[in-house]
Amino acid sequence: MSTRTIPIKALAPQVDAPVGCHAPDSTMAEAAKQAGKSSQLEQYARDYPRGEGQGPHDQPQSMCPAFGSLRVGLRMRRTATILSGSACCVYGLTFTSHFYGARRSVGYVPFNSETLVTGKLFEDIRDAVIAQANPEHVDAVVVINLCVPTASGVPLQLLPKEINGVRIIGIDVPGFGVPTHAEAKDVLTAAMLDYARAEVRQGPVPSPKDQRREKPTLTLVGEMFPADPVSVAQLIAPMGLGVGAVLPTREWRELYVALDGSAVAAIHPFYTASLRSLSSVGKPIVGSAPVGIEGTQDWLLSVGDAMGISKALVDKARNAVLAPMRAMLDDQRIHGRITLSGYEGSELLVARLLIDCGADVRYVGSACPSTPWNAQDIEWLKSRGVHVQMRATLEQDLQAMHEHRPDLVIGTTPVVQRAKELSLPALYFTNLISARPLLGVPGMSSLVDVVRAAMANADRMDRMAGFFDGVST
Ligand code: SF4
Repeated sequence: MSTRTIPIKALAPQVDAPVGCHAPDSTMAEAAKQAGKSSQLEQYARDYPRGEGQGPHDQPQSMCPAFGSLRVGLRMRRTATILSGSACCVYGLTFTSHFYGARRSVGYVPFNSETLVTGKLFEDIRDAVIAQANPEHVDAVVVINLCVPTASGVPLQLLPKEINGVRIIGIDVPGFGVPTHAEAKDVLTAAMLDYARAEVRQGPVPSPKDQRREKPTLTLVGEMFPADPVSVAQLIAPMGLGVGAVLPTREWRELYVALDGSAVAAIHPFYTASLRSLSSVGKPIVGSAPVGIEGTQDWLLSVGDAMGISKALVDKARNAVLAPMRAMLDDQRIHGRITLSGYEGSELLVARLLIDCGADVRYVGSACPSTPWNAQDIEWLKSRGVHVQMRATLEQDLQAMHEHRPDLVIGTTPVVQRAKELSLPALYFTNLISARPLLGVPGMSSLVDVVRAAMANADRMDRMAGFFDGVST
């Protein structure tokens, strides 16, 4: 095979300033722009806004954003995922993916100053892609450029689009362009949707294994607990509707199902590029989610509107769910003050549900931005006196905890750590809240249980704080 060397602007050997998450955001972004990535970065700036009205968060304060894209690739069957980036970044990303149970190899194309400077890195990536593109084993190969290769302009767009029938998808996911791992899920999901859309335009595509659906379907967007799509299916069944695909999908063919849905529910509101892709083929998008009594009523009405369902059928669906929800609330309520923060993008929904269940929620911080699909939730929370901070920083989350002295802190790892030092009961948002059902009646019951159990731990926290008092100070 003949090889062609593509000149790449080498970032790493040229800068004196630190390179990576701790580099000034502008250093890396400027290098990337000079290396030909301007239009990509401008699109990211529009899709994942920072700055005015979005809070001060402008650099990752949590895990590497690229983890979101990596996770979407690793969860998808018959998909190989390859990282191109600094070894330390790749170490952290593979560690985190296996911590979260990836059970799949992560591909890696290493580089050094020389391969970066000469453009050999791109050739190495192309060779790795060719080696992986075996149609017996994979439907797609995904390559993810991390910070340094993006800033150096490694041109993944020049990779072949297809090898032996295997789809090749190259994406840039730098921490200086994609602020959170939540939004990085959108980057890969949208790239796959766009690819599948192009396939549909070219002619017939394979139908999903399970069926030809008889009912109109709703495509759900958001990586949610496996029981949640089942709850949604029960909620919308009285309207004669079914659940189609859940994005990000677990296999390629489900992308066609997603495109085939009659409407889209943006359960997680930060999938801006994916929603744009679905909107471009005429799918109406419904924001918010069926959480709590009012949230569920409003959401069913919006779905009914979007899909042209008669009022009688919408009322039938609402009546079917509201009675069990009210009964559950009569039985069990949350009593106490809560502050809540996270970077998963579902924080507003959890806050709504907590308030419906009786909690006194004072503050909600999310590392994700405000979008048209969470506007309703922000308004609902603000109208109940909750301080809602989008693009929240760790400092703001901690400040809220100190100010409100809650009975329970729900937050990210450093917030929970600080809460424990103050002997406040605390729950990790990512591991203990977002990894459980949230929607419909099961969501309500599950959340009430875990929150009440944590709040009942206040005495234990006091005893632990007394036991460890003075240690390591
Ligand atoms: S790829 Fe991730 S870990 Fe590496 S420098 Fe960028 S944001 Fe940091």
